[in-house]
Amino acid sequence: MAIEQFDTVIIGAGAAGLMCAAVAGKRGRKVLLVDHANKVGKKILISGGGRCNFTNLYASPDQYISQNPHFMKSAFSKFTQHDFIEMVDRYHIPWHEKTLGQLFCDGSAREIVAMLVNECSLGKVTIRENFIVESIEKQDDAYLVNSNIKSKSLVIATGGPSIPLMGATDFAYKIARQFGIKIIEPRPALVPFTLGGDEKSFTTLSGTATDVVVSCGKTSFREALLFTHKGISGPAVLQISSYWKHGQKITVNFLPDLNENWLLNQKKENPKITIVKLLSQHLPNRLADFICELTKFPTQDIGNVPDKKIAEIEAKLFAWEFSPNGTEGYRKAEVTIGGINTDALSSKTMEVKKAPGLYFIGEAVDVTGWLGGYNFQWAWASGYAAGMHL
Ligand SMILES: Cc1cc2nc3c(=O)[nH]c(=O)nc-3n(C[C@H](O)[C@H](O)[C@H](O)COP(=O)(O)OP(=O)(O)OC[C@H]3O[C@@H](n4cnc5c(N)ncnc54)[C@H](O)[C@@H]3O)c2cc1C
Repeated sequence: MAIEQFDTVIIGAGAAGLMCAAVAGKRGRKVLLVDHANKVGKKILISGGGRCNFTNLYASPDQYISQNPHFMKSAFSKFTQHDFIEMVDRYHIPWHEKTLGQLFCDGSAREIVAMLVNECSLGKVTIRENFIVESIEKQDDAYLVNSNIKSKSLVIATGGPSIPLMGATDFAYKIARQFGIKIIEPRPALVPFTLGGDEKSFTTLSGTATDVVVSCGKTSFREALLFTHKGISGPAVLQISSYWKHGQKITVNFLPDLNENWLLNQKKENPKITIVKLLSQHLPNRLADFICELTKFPTQDIGNVPDKKIAEIEAKLFAWEFSPNGTEGYRKAEVTIGGINTDALSSKTMEVKKAPGLYFIGEAVDVTGWLGGYNFQWAWASGYAAGMHL
């Protein structure tokens, strides 16, 4: 059987794999980039509602979750959000800041994929789509893919299992197991919650959104919460889902702009108004009506409601506590938390310490960012770190 020879084979032509291939190729390495999908960068194409939130102006290690919160520092210092913005500008791709430092293409995510593919062709990278990896073997100081492709190094850039419909797999974990590398238990993240118990009836508000502060333990996010036909979603909920584990409670402050004793003060200032009327000044009408019905808030004018009851109502609205009964799982999760234990990798190069020549990059690794362009920034930075070392 004829053996093809490369300096490096990269499995997974998503965000991290494309970046890594381009960087290594431009450094003169003979690179083969393969993907089982029929086209490269599929998740980039659907990201950010088709406009790709490609990075965040404020990206720093603080917005990432990992068993080792320091692991990403080295890669981020070598390839920052400004380096990626510089590349986007070099390709004259128009972009804008939507909110909270989140940068999106003005046009289409296709421009980001086209840019990365062009960078790969500048590096003379060979790209093969519809490529099925059947086997990986270590042979002396080289790696053998499907018994007929030999390479000095091998990069696993196959992401995590979120959104299997897009071709996501747990391939990286299988390879990790093959080489005796530890995995931090993966779970879906940036994912909507499903509701049970008293809160199940919130699903009748499907389509209603409101600005909240949602907390789990010591972590809080202030953004929109969206009621869905299965539970709750929206940026605030997706963010907190990454910090939540089964059985834990979350707390929602439905009135984040109001101070303690707001309702008691209203009793003094506006005694002839009902609580539902007051609430609908700060919440969507549907939600105000619903909360008042669900919790049987008094319907008379607030002037006739005892102070103790008002304090109870206020406490409930400021800290509505409940346990989600689950999440919508990998089917709906934007990312996977956990993955390749960073202890196994060099933080400078992403190379496996005890398996020279083997690298893991991107979402496959136990580094997960907040919503808002942070996950792509990790994919670019980890891809760059490996690409510079291959
Ligand atoms: C709907 C959605 C929207 C998102 N929007 C954003 C956003 O706007 N901003 C942001 O920062 N992040 C966003 N993310 C997260 C972001 O897409 C990922 O974090 C990022 O793509 C991870 O990059 P990666 O290269 O590690 O993995 P991926 O981009 O997932 O690439 C992995 C590649 O490996 C291939 N592959 C998998 N298994 C195999 C196998 N066995 N053999 C060969 N190839 C294989 C896949 O086909 C894929 O091309 C979004 C995610 C989703 C699901």
